Amino acid sequence: MRSDWSAFKARVSNRLARDLGAVPFRLQNKAPMVSFTFDDTPRSAATAGAPILDEYQAKGTFYISGGLVNQSSDHWMGITNDEIMELHRAGHEIACHTFSHVRATDLGAAALTAEIEKNRSYFLALDPSIRIENFAYPYGLGTVLHKRRLKQTFRSSRGIMPGANSGTVDLQYLNSTPLINRHIDCDGIDRAFDETIATNGWLIFYGHDVATSPSPFGCTPALMRHALAAASRRNVQILSVAEALALAGA
Ligand SMILES: [Zn+2]
Repeated sequence: MRSDWSAFKARVSNRLARDLGAVPFRLQNKAPMVSFTFDDTPRSAATAGAPILDEYQAKGTFYISGGLVNQSSDHWMGITNDEIMELHRAGHEIACHTFSHVRATDLGAAALTAEIEKNRSYFLALDPSIRIENFAYPYGLGTVLHKRRLKQTFRSSRGIMPGANSGTVDLQYLNSTPLINRHIDCDGIDRAFDETIATNGWLIFYGHDVATSPSPFGCTPALMRHALAAASRRNVQILSVAEALALAGA
């Protein structure tokens, strides 16, 4: 019962977050852009995903929950501290999720702030030069009550509403498209790039693990390579979220 109520509340809140309290910003990128982002984050995003990005001299964004580091789950093994440091040293972006991976819709203002501060402190303890600038809502669930607060802390917050970001966007509720084999195939990826180019947009992919037999939330190296090749062929710049925001004038 409680979880039904919690799920209902999350759905309504997510819809309100999408529709209300927008913080409009006009993207000023001169050319289409794509970002590859990974949530939670599984080890394989670092050990298999990052090397594929490296083949394109591209940087990714990794929205990591400190509470999931080094933890095994039903679907994958969590990233290690050493792997976080390797990503950071290689110029990939370390970004914020909630520390315990609780959804923002289940947290009051003080609890969300505490979760974020705990997560930020975790990475700063690893290396004070890690800059945590961007956030992704766990489960993609945003809440209108928190958007203005998040704006004070983060340059952007990302949901999981598919579609390219273009024109005037809500920086605290950026769209992102699954790079998840269960949800998209090569044709779907190509269509997402067509839309991005037609709108001079910013396509953000999100995924989790990268494996030849991925979890229901992850992708194969082949699908990731298809997306990177599609970007490269169409001259779409591949950028971390922080890099893309800078080019967009945010
Ligand atoms: Zn997550």
